[in-house]
Amino acid sequence: MEDNIIELWEKVLDLLKEEISPIAFNTFISEIVPRQIDSKTISLLAKSSYHVDVCKVKYEDLIKTALKMLTSIDYEIIFEAKTTVPENDKINLDEEVVRGQYGDVESNGEMLNPILDKEKIRENAGLNKRFTFDNFIIGNNNRFAQATAYSVYENLGLTNPLFIYGGVGLGKTHLMEAIGNAVIDEDPSKKVLYCTGELFVSELIKVMLNPKNNEMNEQFKKKFRDLDLLLIDDVQIIAGKEKCQEEFFHTFNALCDSGKQIVLTSERPPKEINGLTDRLKTRFSMGVSVDIQTPDYETRLAILKKRAEEERYIVADDILVKVATKVKSNVRELEGVFNKLMAYTRFTNNQLTDDVVDNIIESILVKSSNVLSSTLVMQVVAQFFNIKVSDLTSDKRSNSIAKPRQIAMYLCREVADMSFSAIGNDFGGRDHSTVLHAYYKISDEYNSNADTKDLIDDIKKALERES
Ligand code: ADP
Ligand code: MG
Repeated sequence: MEDNIIELWEKVLDLLKEEISPIAFNTFISEIVPRQIDSKTISLLAKSSYHVDVCKVKYEDLIKTALKMLTSIDYEIIFEAKTTVPENDKINLDEEVVRGQYGDVESNGEMLNPILDKEKIRENAGLNKRFTFDNFIIGNNNRFAQATAYSVYENLGLTNPLFIYGGVGLGKTHLMEAIGNAVIDEDPSKKVLYCTGELFVSELIKVMLNPKNNEMNEQFKKKFRDLDLLLIDDVQIIAGKEKCQEEFFHTFNALCDSGKQIVLTSERPPKEINGLTDRLKTRFSMGVSVDIQTPDYETRLAILKKRAEEERYIVADDILVKVATKVKSNVRELEGVFNKLMAYTRFTNNQLTDDVVDNIIESILVKSSNVLSSTLVMQVVAQFFNIKVSDLTSDKRSNSIAKPRQIAMYLCREVADMSFSAIGNDFGGRDHSTVLHAYYKISDEYNSNADTKDLIDDIKKALERES
């Protein structure tokens, strides 16, 4: 029983880690001690009554979902506090969380800890601090791209735009964010914004839906133009969207004209982006375009060694050699295998045998060969319901759109194995709780309503054919 609850809780933690920002996870979740479990209740000990309050409001649903996924049981959760917190501490904690999670609270003019301050700036800029030049391994596949990115950081505004292109999981986002992180490290007063093409589109749509709201319009302009460095990741998404391309054209010109830096990434070079207007193709090709290729064996091995060093994970060289030999197509898969190896050693305390390593490698390679993207799920669902893909990511709430959207979200989880937060992101930047709700609603209908089941099974078949 003791072992069971601890084992179960560790699995819950693994799932939650995917869904919650690292700072919130470390502050609230990692310290929870599971105390007791019976057939329908689990009691959890949190650090203080304040932690209990936050967990109840923000994380209870998520914990319940994780438990249900692992055990199929709807557990009742009882939170208890180890201690109570003095009032003063409460305020500090509050700030930390707000900063960590939302990063949008203004400093109140008091002296802030410079490190925390920088973290806050980084978060406000939308940057992930993990992506730096320091931990970007240089190889033949990315040498030129890395050198160019570094020189853009050193000479901000000189080469516009820097356009980085290449296949999935090869390091485009990493390199782009490394520029942003380096700029902030050197001078935190520089205004940097990292934004996915998708987020740009959804923010613009919000503005367009409120044409009379000038304030919103101004805010949008300020957000994207009052900058020293704008990073737009996966910019190809704006292709084919007339209004977005127009607005982006103006944003681009405004920044260029005032000598500010723009960095863009895409899976293809500008000329090959279908549906991109000619004037944007021309603009995007005006600066430097660099590509990242698949990494060779030496680079793959170096990346694995670097990861092991970062994680202080002691693992035999021949295991890393095996992984680097077998996992070839992209760095994301390489990291996937690495993380599983590490989890295996840390959670089971067993030695890695050849069989275990082979199984882990195979599981990742099989998974990625069947990987379905949210894009494909959306396309197939939109076709089924005869609506536009953009309806699925829009804010429209009519039943004829909301229902297909929920089904598409459900399928992204069920078939494409995406995390709730990732799904939320892909569906126009929705909150994970919205996705969670959709997932359970459709799961229930799938189990209780034969028509829904048939419909979803048909869509699943179509997805299999397409992938
Ligand atoms: P992309 O944006 O091209 O799809 P990412 O930048 O998200 O790819 O990279 C996928 C993962 O691989 C990230 O965790 C990233 O840190 C890692 N990665 C990619 N290239 C390198 C590299 N050269 N050195 C270290 N890590 C890398
Ligand atoms: Mg990327």
